[in-house]
Amino acid sequence: MGNMIELNQIKNFINGEWVAPSDCETVPLINPSTAEIIGEVPMSTPEISNQAVEAAARAFPGWCATPLPRRMNYIFKIYHAMQENLEELAQAIALDQAKHISEARGEVSRVIEIVQMACSTPTLMQGETIQGIAPNINGRVIKAPLGVFCGVAPFNFPALVFGWFIPVAIATGNTFVYKPSSESPLFMQKMMQLLVDIGLPSGVVNVVHGDREVVEAWYENEHVVGVCLVGSTPTARAIAEGCGRNGKKTMLLGGAKNFLVAMEDAPMDLLIENILMSGYGSAGQRCLAVSNIAVVPEIHDEFVERLLEASRKITLGDARDPDIFMGPVISAQAKAKVEEYIRVGVEAGATLALDGRNPALPDANRDGYFIGPTVFTDVTPCMRIAKEEIFGPVLSVIKVGCINTALKMISDHDMGNGACIFTQNSYYTEKFINEADVGMVGVNVGICAPHPYLPFGGIKDSLVGNNKVQGKDSVDFFTQNKTATVRIVNPKETDATNKPVDASVRSCVAS
Ligand code: NAD
Repeated sequence: MGNMIELNQIKNFINGEWVAPSDCETVPLINPSTAEIIGEVPMSTPEISNQAVEAAARAFPGWCATPLPRRMNYIFKIYHAMQENLEELAQAIALDQAKHISEARGEVSRVIEIVQMACSTPTLMQGETIQGIAPNINGRVIKAPLGVFCGVAPFNFPALVFGWFIPVAIATGNTFVYKPSSESPLFMQKMMQLLVDIGLPSGVVNVVHGDREVVEAWYENEHVVGVCLVGSTPTARAIAEGCGRNGKKTMLLGGAKNFLVAMEDAPMDLLIENILMSGYGSAGQRCLAVSNIAVVPEIHDEFVERLLEASRKITLGDARDPDIFMGPVISAQAKAKVEEYIRVGVEAGATLALDGRNPALPDANRDGYFIGPTVFTDVTPCMRIAKEEIFGPVLSVIKVGCINTALKMISDHDMGNGACIFTQNSYYTEKFINEADVGMVGVNVGICAPHPYLPFGGIKDSLVGNNKVQGKDSVDFFTQNKTATVRIVNPKETDATNKPVDASVRSCVAS
């Protein structure tokens, strides 16, 4: 079988050149739908990582001096290139990350919208002025690029995270070094070729594959001004420490454990449909996957029955097959971890109402890393399955007396990425929006991703630091405010040294 597959040689891209992994180890790239090896990925050394940073640092002066409309031309070209190559980009994600092909298309489409948002950078990065802060003195704020930013992606959103970091970072005039996940590098391999094809100048975007060594090299590299990550919370904390010690900016989105609250007036069909998409989409490997479902007693039993009935109908198979619903999880280790959580849930006394271990599969996918829909009922908030991020298609149903109990559970949880409520009652709706202790709230929509014009990010342990992605927040992160105080001097006026100085002028120069 193996010799029939065309192997993908993943390469670094540094200073405008594809670089084959001649002086570093490689790891196999695996198709999780079949467990077949489909390529190899360089595990780049710190030296290679630093070479990419140097290339980005050399490119920075020319790139930030490039007139803004010319920089924006490249962003518009990225937008068109992605539209023209949407299918190829989506197929890459469906192959190595094994995201279902329709969801992979959805991910690329969302990135196209993010690039559209990045096209508004010239408006979003306009500074401010204030006239007449003293006689003949004006104040001004300019938003300037900073230099070389670096970014790290998780395995589960190879396109989205490219979209969150790179278009705005380079539109604002910075240059970039990007490390995709070694488990899903194919999207960036294809995307980088598109950036080459549109003529993006050498060194503006560089790609280095590998693991933490690539990232750790950035902490003490004097050219790196900031590091962004989307990944698990322990990784976000490790990067915060390394960057904090060395005075680098950070934007660090971490892990999640999301609650859905179903009230007595929840529209049941909509509720079930949204849970299937949100809980089993990407096989539960989403930072916005629903995981804990808090249900009031009035509808609990009917809800569980409907959920089980719908979950049993979910079909599993190759992520590139449009006729199946759900693909595998990313790796054998990920599968073992989810199975361990199922065991832990049973041991804690939760009822395993639907067991997704050893699901029915097409013959070609027998070796893939599959877990079917799994539903626990009788879950309590202190059980590990309700507290920890499982990152698989496992749902925990928790019976709650009222909205206050559900809100308290959400508040008490360490994570705070997203939460949503299903109700038709405006009192519940407003209360939930105001009181749910999370960064992103949904009403009658599965845990939903805010539109690219709005900030995306959690709170509590789901965000390390305070910087979020998308919209104006991204532009603010990738620029620095420089404040200028400007006195207008009339060259025809005589020497003013002996004139009495206005008190407001003194205050401008004294502090
Ligand atoms: P991960 O934290 O294991 O890895 C993320 C990236 O960091 C990878 O590129 C990896 O090579 C690198 N890395 C790992 N350890 C590192 C270290 N010590 N120092 C520096 N870099 C390191 O995460 P993952 O398993 O690839 O992705 C899943 C996680 O990402 C989940 O926790 C999920 O919730 C989270 N996630 C969050 C969001 C969000 O918006 N908050 C979005 C997607 C994924």
